[in-house]
Amino acid sequence: MSDIDTTVVDSAALTRWVTEFARLIGEQHNQLTDLDAAIGDADHGTNMSRGMSAVLAALPDPAQTQPAALLKKVASTLISSVGGASGPLYGTFFLRMATATGLVDGLDGPGFAKALRAGVDGVVARGKAELGDKTMFDALSPAVAALDDALAAGSPLADALRAAAAAAADGRDATTPLVARKGRASYLGERSAGHQDPGATSAALLVAATSALTAPGAGG
Ligand code: ADP
Ligand code: MG
Repeated sequence: MSDIDTTVVDSAALTRWVTEFARLIGEQHNQLTDLDAAIGDADHGTNMSRGMSAVLAALPDPAQTQPAALLKKVASTLISSVGGASGPLYGTFFLRMATATGLVDGLDGPGFAKALRAGVDGVVARGKAELGDKTMFDALSPAVAALDDALAAGSPLADALRAAAAAAADGRDATTPLVARKGRASYLGERSAGHQDPGATSAALLVAATSALTAPGAGG
């Protein structure tokens, strides 16, 4: 009964993912900035929407571009257009994904999961966050774990990505009571508790946007 999942994550799919992430950031940038106003410097929504607008403008033609080159373009655009901690962190995420992808035209589900994990490992290599430090890693780490688990259990990629998005949302919600130990919010010490982390919030949007990878109908 379990058919082989033949979904391929190619440059067109990655373009849909990044475009959907940009749409969600555009829709929720005020909330991201409000969250950052509470425990940071009120610029996370502005940072991310500036970065993702630049990414949309820079996206190459997916028909002419391999996945790794596309992901590298996203990375370099974010690094050059986003000020603050989140630019280099998201940039590193996409850069490590590109490196893990290699010179292929498409990835299967496990290949995409592996690249995603490499991206998350890059965030850690760059920012040195540990679980529970109240950062984007608190949303990303459970997401890649849930994705791997679901794929290992034989779920089709679309279902596994839904599980990853749910895990990211739970991880984001779980940042609220935490005391920040990385980034600007850590300057507040105990006063950072009681607020949802802005970076974990945008990271949950990044994972939620993966639904567009397997939904070619959603916007071309
Ligand atoms: P800045 O803090 O420089 O103003 P942003 O407001 O754009 O940058 O991003 C803040 C978010 O970046 C935080 O909510 C947190 O999730 C994330 N962040 C900060 N430092 C780190 C780090 N060392 N590792 C992982 N994520 C981090
Ligand atoms: Mg900020």
